[in-house]
Amino acid sequence: MVELHTPLSRIDGIQTRFLPKLKKLGIETVRDLLWHFPVRYEDFSHVFTIEELNPGEEVTITATVESIKSRNTWRRSLFLVEAELSDHTGTIRATWFNQPYIKNVLQPGRMANFAGKVVASKKSGELYLSNPTYELVSAHAHHETKHTARIVPVYSETRGLTSKGIRYLIQPILKRLPHIPELFPEAVLRAQHIPEINEALANIHFPENIDDALAARRRFAFEDLFFLQLTTALQRRTLAAKTAPSIPTDIPLIKSLIEALPFALTESQKRSLWEILKDLARPHPMNRILQGDVGSGKTVIAGLAAYAAAAHGHQAAFMAPTEILARQHYLTFNKLFPNYEHGVALLTAGETRISYGNGLESIIAKPSLLKEITSGKIRIVVGTHALIQKSVAFRSLALVVVDEQHRFGVRQRAALEEAGGSTPHFLSMSATPIPRTLSLTLFGDLDLSLITELPKGRKPIKTRAVLPEERVQAYQFIRDEIVSGRQAFVICPRIEKPEEPTDRATLIAREVKSVKEEYARLSRELFPDLTVAMLHGKMSAKEKASVMHAFQKNETNILVATSVIEVGVDVPNATIMMIEGAERFGLAQLYQFKGRVGRGAHQSYCLLFAASPSAATRTRLKAIVEARNGFELAEMDLKLRGPGEFLGEAQTGMPDLAMKAIQNPDLVKHAHEAARELLNNDPTLKRNPEIRMHLEEFRKSVHWE
Ligand code: ADP
Ligand code: MG
Repeated sequence: MVELHTPLSRIDGIQTRFLPKLKKLGIETVRDLLWHFPVRYEDFSHVFTIEELNPGEEVTITATVESIKSRNTWRRSLFLVEAELSDHTGTIRATWFNQPYIKNVLQPGRMANFAGKVVASKKSGELYLSNPTYELVSAHAHHETKHTARIVPVYSETRGLTSKGIRYLIQPILKRLPHIPELFPEAVLRAQHIPEINEALANIHFPENIDDALAARRRFAFEDLFFLQLTTALQRRTLAAKTAPSIPTDIPLIKSLIEALPFALTESQKRSLWEILKDLARPHPMNRILQGDVGSGKTVIAGLAAYAAAAHGHQAAFMAPTEILARQHYLTFNKLFPNYEHGVALLTAGETRISYGNGLESIIAKPSLLKEITSGKIRIVVGTHALIQKSVAFRSLALVVVDEQHRFGVRQRAALEEAGGSTPHFLSMSATPIPRTLSLTLFGDLDLSLITELPKGRKPIKTRAVLPEERVQAYQFIRDEIVSGRQAFVICPRIEKPEEPTDRATLIAREVKSVKEEYARLSRELFPDLTVAMLHGKMSAKEKASVMHAFQKNETNILVATSVIEVGVDVPNATIMMIEGAERFGLAQLYQFKGRVGRGAHQSYCLLFAASPSAATRTRLKAIVEARNGFELAEMDLKLRGPGEFLGEAQTGMPDLAMKAIQNPDLVKHAHEAARELLNNDPTLKRNPEIRMHLEEFRKSVHWE
């Protein structure tokens, strides 16, 4: 019997030569095959007569083969089959290239459906069908079609496996499949206006009409979103059941720390801090994201929270995505809390040091630092992912702060738990303005603190897309700024020029500016009198740190860099962000670059250069010029490119349909509510075993880490 888990190799009638091809598409079982959904449909549902045909139309006709012949064309490599077709209204020619076997199938006298494009011959104007899909039919029996005379599914294909081939495989299996039990309660189906599973499966592949196909797609999208929501909701509940160190809110301490800062906190900084401190006081782990535009001052808030944890004898780990940023957070902490004397450690692959406030700093060997962390003597550790290695054992880790990472895996969290005994509180910081719909999908009910305003006195950054002919002017502008004391970033999409061009792609790539070339050009030709430095991912951590350090101290005027500069780098004196090849970066990334300037009191500028200003590029650059804040931009980006591009597919691991469905906020919201309601009624899913089983499968399939 055919069941969902039956391997395709055990199904009669599937030729073995198809199996490796299917496997390439990730299809090994009946379920895999049936869940290989069409990417689009072609509407061949109306059957035309030959006299009704007009050039340019996609049509189906039912016709009899009058004659058929094959020949080589003048381009000898092409093998042409030509048939004369007729129905009661007239005759038409059909042509196929390089499909000699067609002659065996479409023998004269046979009747078939032909679906394809009507083309007018350039020479004679005569109409013919170009490369139509065909399907034999009988004049007598009612015949169910797969490829013609209906809405026809089109699949993503692989070499040697066409849409037609996939339709051949799917239709008989659908017929033989026993009834599949429905996961969702009747009420959910009705409320969402979605078909039950058997109907949905039939309609997503072979719909009667487009509405049925859409309803079926909606069902599967809803299903994916629902299971995403269920996953995050369950994680949240699991976490809430764990214990975490409760850190009492020490108001006098916090007040004195805030008063000692070199600036006044903004209202939303204060509100966010308060939300975080309240969470820390609870005996269950905080799970919060602190979101705010670049430069809105998230670090100081996380720093205050870390300080509060340390003041009560606990430890805090502060994790950054790069060594440069880890180092910067470490310096910031020292700057903001100069009197902190317990020692703040920096721990990256390349550097281990401790600072004791008031400029006291010691370089320490890694093993010794690890000991001090394990003994609990060092309470605040800033670092990269090196922080959550097995070798790092905290004595009492109460707070983990993660900067600029969209997700922090379940596994990493578990690693920290093992190390510390109880579960630490968790705060993630992000300047990537994640639209509400997307964050709901990715994080479910994760608590959110928002910093909505920039510190007082900041001037909005002036952003411009610069035309090629304005380049000279732009360089003069940069020179003027530098002469008046400011600094500039120049971002390039790649590190170096590719070697000899071998293909078209490399040729195009050669036009893309590289850090090394631009560095040479700017330092030798354009600004020989200024100091230019470069920064890219192939440099050692030490080199990077010293380049950054020099730039931070204004010993360098211009820094030519790759996207390593993207997140977090804080140089308030830099006022120019010049981006080469802006079309090569995502909007979120461009926005991050832009955020590297405008961090001090001076007017700042962001100059966008595009090598190939296509219409799409112009639209995107316009978005970044016009966006008033990160959230506006994020919504625009989501619309322009879809969520996969926004976050990077790999980062989300989300199913296809769910990714697309995110652009439908209502569906996300409904899935969210349905998941929550289900868990409220049945927290352990005891009464919904089907859903529980499916959840397991789902988790495996999305690599939810
Ligand atoms: P981000 O949110 O991008 O991480 P940072 O925390 O790096 O921003 O802060 C950007 C700069 O603004 C830092 O130099 C920081 O010291 C400073 N800053 C933070 N809060 C304020 C404030 N309320 N007023 C003035 N400057 C502030
Ligand atoms: Mg930051």
